[in-house]
This record gives sequence, structure tokens and C-alpha cells, in this order.
Amino acid sequence: MTRRPLIAGNWKMNGLAADGTALASTLAGKMKGGSDHPFNMLVCPPFPLIGKVVDAVAGSGIAVGGQDCHMAEKGAHTGDTSAWILKDAGCDYVIVGHSERRTDHAETDETVKAKAEAALAAGLRVIVCIGETLQQREAGQTLEVNRSQFQGSLPDGATPENTVIAYEPVWAIGTGLTATPGQAQDVHAAIRAEIKGKLGDAAAEGMRVLYGGSMNPGNARELIGQPDIDGGLIGGAALKADDFWGIAESC
Ligand code: PEP
Repeated sequence: MTRRPLIAGNWKMNGLAADGTALASTLAGKMKGGSDHPFNMLVCPPFPLIGKVVDAVAGSGIAVGGQDCHMAEKGAHTGDTSAWILKDAGCDYVIVGHSERRTDHAETDETVKAKAEAALAAGLRVIVCIGETLQQREAGQTLEVNRSQFQGSLPDGATPENTVIAYEPVWAIGTGLTATPGQAQDVHAAIRAEIKGKLGDAAAEGMRVLYGGSMNPGNARELIGQPDIDGGLIGGAALKADDFWGIAESC
């Protein structure tokens, strides 16, 4: 099975309405300007911009996602957003377990799994993020940490259609440091082996595993060219249309 690369932009807490709609419209124009693009594209704006971005990319094939969701369907959770609300707003995807959520909000694998299961129940696709810190890498714990986060965070009911894994070494996020293609491939291959052990051959063959961590148009081609890297989850470079599109073109 050929896995179609996913180029996903995580805008984090950046952009006012004018910036977000301009960025989304530019990408939509580029997308509509060609046909048979060999990738899927996703943008994940801050929550209040989702409606405007959904309108801006309508008809382009670009999907829109949230950056997080609550594990409950509704209720007294001030400041949170449910997967069902994201779906209703026009989202197709949601990111869960980003290292900034794990750090800033003390999210555990158990929390991430519950959020991912809420996302699937709401009919969203989910991007589950995992990755080691620099300290863990230097202690030789990279594969063990990623295996354990994968096992703890994967939602029940995960399939290649509804779940994407994002390997994001924490030390490479927003730092300008990138895993070498070889370092990234080693971890991606180990994650694929975990998928195979847990979900079987077909799931391992079909489930996309993205790389994230200072990906840019200069390093994307070699990273995405690795056999087990199926696209990117991109932060900083997703805020500039030319850079984000340049990464997509490297597919
Ligand atoms: C991210 O936030 O998921 C990310 C990979 O950020 P950056 O590309 O800026 O390192």
C-alpha cells in the first residue's frame, strides 16, 4: 500500500483573523492551481480562526484541524473545546498530545489516549504526537520512550484511516535543530514495528507516521524521502505560505 504523505501545519497560538485567512487563502489558491497533488494538506489554526479558515479553504481539498480537544463531549470545562465542537465547526482532524500540551498542561499518555478516543467518537481523524526530550535521547532512551508513549497514547479503534502518528523529538521543536534523516528514520521504523505488533501488518503498512521538528523547505525532501516518514507536522514554517508550500512540493 502506498501511503499518501500528509503535510500538516500547526499554527499554534499565532495569527489574528486577517493573517490566518490570508495564509489559508494563499494555500487554497496554490492547491487549486494544480491537480493531482501527491500529498494531503492540513492546517490547524487557533480555535477562534477555525470558521474563517474553513471558509477560506473551501473547495481546495485542504483540511482543517484543531490543535487539541477535551476528552468529554460537553459540560462544565471552562476554556476547553470538545471534539464534537471542532467537528461541527468544520474540522476533519485534531492534534492530541503535542509536547507543548504535555508540558504546559501536564498531559499524560492516559489523557492523550482519552482525548484521541473522543476525537474518533466525534468522527474526527486524530494526529497523536509522541517524542523524546534531549535528556532522554542523551540517556539512550529514545526508542523506549517513543514505544511507551505510542502504546500509552494510541486510541482504541485506531486504523490507518482515522489515526496518524507524529514523531516529534521535543529537542527539535521550534529550536532550528532537526533530527537527521537517519535519526528520524530509525525512530519511525521502530514506531512502525510497534504499529505492526499492536494492530497487524495492514495497519502498519497503511498508517501514516509524520516527522515534526524544525522541518523546512531545505530539509523536507530528505526527511520525507525516508521509507517510514509519511509527511510532516510543521510549526514555524507553516506560518509562511511559500515555506509550507515548499515543504509540500518536496513530496
Ligand atoms: C510543532 O510544533 O509541531 C513543530 C514541529 O514545530 P516546528 O516546526 O516549529 O519545530
